[in-house]
Amino acid sequence: MQYRNFGNTGFRISALGFGAMRLPISTPGPSASPDLDAAVKLLRRGFTAGINYVDTAYFYCDGQSEIAVGRALKDGWRDKVVLSTKLPLNQVKCIDDFRRILEDQLRKLDTDHIDFYHLHGIGEAALTGPIREFKIFESAARARDEGLIHHLSFSFHDRPEAMKTLVDTGEFSSVLCQYNLLDTANAEAAAYAASKGLGTVAMGPVGGGRLAFAGSIFEDAVGGRLTTPELALRYVLSNRNFNCALSGMGTPEMVDANARIADADTPLTPGEVAAIEEIREKCAELRKLYCTGCAYCRPECPKNVDIPAVLLALILYKVYHLEQHARDRYRQLATAAGNDPKTARAADGCVKCGKCEQVCPQKLPIRQFLAEAEELFAES
Ligand code: SF4
Ligand code: SF4
Repeated sequence: MQYRNFGNTGFRISALGFGAMRLPISTPGPSASPDLDAAVKLLRRGFTAGINYVDTAYFYCDGQSEIAVGRALKDGWRDKVVLSTKLPLNQVKCIDDFRRILEDQLRKLDTDHIDFYHLHGIGEAALTGPIREFKIFESAARARDEGLIHHLSFSFHDRPEAMKTLVDTGEFSSVLCQYNLLDTANAEAAAYAASKGLGTVAMGPVGGGRLAFAGSIFEDAVGGRLTTPELALRYVLSNRNFNCALSGMGTPEMVDANARIADADTPLTPGEVAAIEEIREKCAELRKLYCTGCAYCRPECPKNVDIPAVLLALILYKVYHLEQHARDRYRQLATAAGNDPKTARAADGCVKCGKCEQVCPQKLPIRQFLAEAEELFAES
């Protein structure tokens, strides 16, 4: 495993981080709960492979991810693994909520401190909104003085320029942001953060799972010597402005494959990077269609439409030209839904209320995309 200095924090962390948002689940659907034993086993497989940075959040896996991570860190792992979790700022409604939620997280994680405590998914507006209103920086400083958190960090969903504003507050030790070969919008802002001594973590190195399915479109750029998932992870690892590529891993195969890639320090050549960038430009339509699979929209939908699954089918069809694979995935979803309103639905369930679009960090025109998917796949 490669290890890199985590900005100026004094930590040295693995180039591959374990994102604990897709841990194995026992029951599918919106109220899924993790199979804790399987999740602990999977996390420890990663630790044993050399991963020493794990990232969770208050709401991952229906609130169970922190419990799974806490259990995985028993038996001596807590001293060897850097622990990151996130405060859901939208749940902070008064000054005392910071402390209440933090204490709940420490209890779930069953630890006495969190190494990197992130404000979850913030943008510039948070500075003049909840951060100021609920004295978040002051509460974080107190928690730091008491040793409950060691560093304050932020995960980021906003225009890249806004990241610089957040960095310049001087309050944060690290940043977690989207960066992969489909989306490099944060590259310059992350370089700025790195230049200011912040640790930098890239989320979604394999495009929220989409690149695991991609066809040969990017493989041609490296003469077919790497598969697309391998190429995607190597692309992120090749950018030294990022200290760590955080991958949400849900199976032993994913852990093993990613760990093998992160073992070797074999960055892509400048020629390969240039060829990839050329292809990305050609795939400009992908940007409009970009869905990270974060699933923030899922609980908002009153009709239980599986929006990320529908959009993935659309991306597979339109961008990678995997027409049959896309149709098959969509059909599986539509068939499974049947007439049962409790089962996740395909795009035909959408009543165009727009609630999903209000929470989408990528600001996607979801209703328009769903209508497009329905038109493409319904009759095919
Ligand atoms: S617009 Fe459609 S998909 Fe979005 S929340 Fe409403 S019903 Fe669900
Ligand atoms: S549509 Fe938006 S909120 Fe929903 S999964 Fe995709 S990126 Fe996330």
